[in-house]
Amino acid sequence: MNKNLYSLTAHELAVGLNKKEIKSEDIYSALDGRIKESDPKVNAYLRPSKGLSSGGDRITSGIPVAIKDNICTKGFHTQCCSKILEGFIPPYDATVIKRIKESGHSCLELKTNMDEFAFGSSTENSSQGPTHNPWDLNCVPGGSSGGSAAAVASDEAIWALGSDTGGSIRQPASFCGVVGLKPTYGRVSRFGLIAFASSLDQIGPITKDVYDNALLLNIISGYDPNDSTSINLPVPDYTRALGKDVKGLKVGVPKEYFIEGLDPEVKAAVEEAINTLRKMGVEFKEVSLRHTEYAVPVYYIIATAEASSNLARFDGVQYGFRSKDANLIDMYKKTRGEGFGEEAKRRIILGTFALSHGYYDAYYLRALKVRTLIKEDFDILFKELDCILTPTSPTAAFKIGEKVKDPLKMYLSDIYTISANLAGIPGISLPCGLTKNGLPIGLQILAPHFQEEKIFSLAYAYEQNTDWHKLKPKLT
Ligand code: GLN
Repeated sequence: MNKNLYSLTAHELAVGLNKKEIKSEDIYSALDGRIKESDPKVNAYLRPSKGLSSGGDRITSGIPVAIKDNICTKGFHTQCCSKILEGFIPPYDATVIKRIKESGHSCLELKTNMDEFAFGSSTENSSQGPTHNPWDLNCVPGGSSGGSAAAVASDEAIWALGSDTGGSIRQPASFCGVVGLKPTYGRVSRFGLIAFASSLDQIGPITKDVYDNALLLNIISGYDPNDSTSINLPVPDYTRALGKDVKGLKVGVPKEYFIEGLDPEVKAAVEEAINTLRKMGVEFKEVSLRHTEYAVPVYYIIATAEASSNLARFDGVQYGFRSKDANLIDMYKKTRGEGFGEEAKRRIILGTFALSHGYYDAYYLRALKVRTLIKEDFDILFKELDCILTPTSPTAAFKIGEKVKDPLKMYLSDIYTISANLAGIPGISLPCGLTKNGLPIGLQILAPHFQEEKIFSLAYAYEQNTDWHKLKPKLT
């Protein structure tokens, strides 16, 4: 255990902890030093300059997990990187936080940066300033869980939690060269996750490798009576899926994902990954997901409709920021006007419009119907297939500032990840290459509902035969 502890994976550190060669405190102080050294460049955390010791009661057990700023941590600041939640201290822990603590691990007393309320694909819509991609500090880390992905990629965290409503775990994992999983809808409790779009949101692990991902999913999964959408199904030990023979697995490659807009370097890397897996006996087949072109418009109606409803509770009365005004109605208006950022306002307006009388049927209801068609596309294919394989994102990381003024362009960067949320199925992104400019490329694997094990088997087999996950960014 002479290596820098911060650079290790959780399963490597667990060996050291079990043999009593290291203590949790050693991991904490290694991370503390690393964050002080590298976070001024990356900005993966909120207020990192104060260092780790600034939190309340520090509990240094097990291996600390970095937590996205939209997951409630008891007694510790949680603000969704929004001005409107400034000063909000949750009175309870989210179920995932409870489970982490019960498993003998702990949470970092720093929260990771994100797009305000998870609205975005670049972590530029944050009240805390943008996070920088550790592979190229001029580029975005992806979003909205960009802080979590960048923290793991830059060794400022061992592992982390993110949330994924339309790609917010997988796309930043892809841009930062780490492993990110969106579990099946209902697999992980959403209790204590500040809601963006309740029918799409899932919390999931962002890790340095597939093994750690399975370990962290083991910890956070399972039924929770506090979340009426969590499903009461047994949780398998996901690490047992690792190392399974993948020979004969049937994997579909949807032709709709390999069209205009897909960067040739990304395409080549994914094709190379297919070749690697084919050599291991995986059987590939071209398939069709017919309604793919509707995924982005359907998502932006449903997600904004739900967001507009979820954000109605932030009015200056119960949580966080309050604008001073003698009159109640004016106080509501000013609080919301000053507290929400530009993208949040755009979504509240869009969602309220789609839900309003006269437009509800034409937009919201129609979007729900097409959502069902998108889900059925997957149901049909999964009658014959074990998994579906695609690029995670059409491009590698883009430059900070490149898309932030053009929301439609930004929305398209989730074109490959959104369908999984609409269908409720699980998906992972893992590193499968680098562009000529040295930016990571992500491979996405999707599976049927509650079959994360298939994803882990395939992802692990690929990872064991490649070295992409071992590369480290230079932070320049
Ligand atoms: N980028 C998508 C959006 O802006 C997805 C965000 C997410 O998954 N939270 O809505």
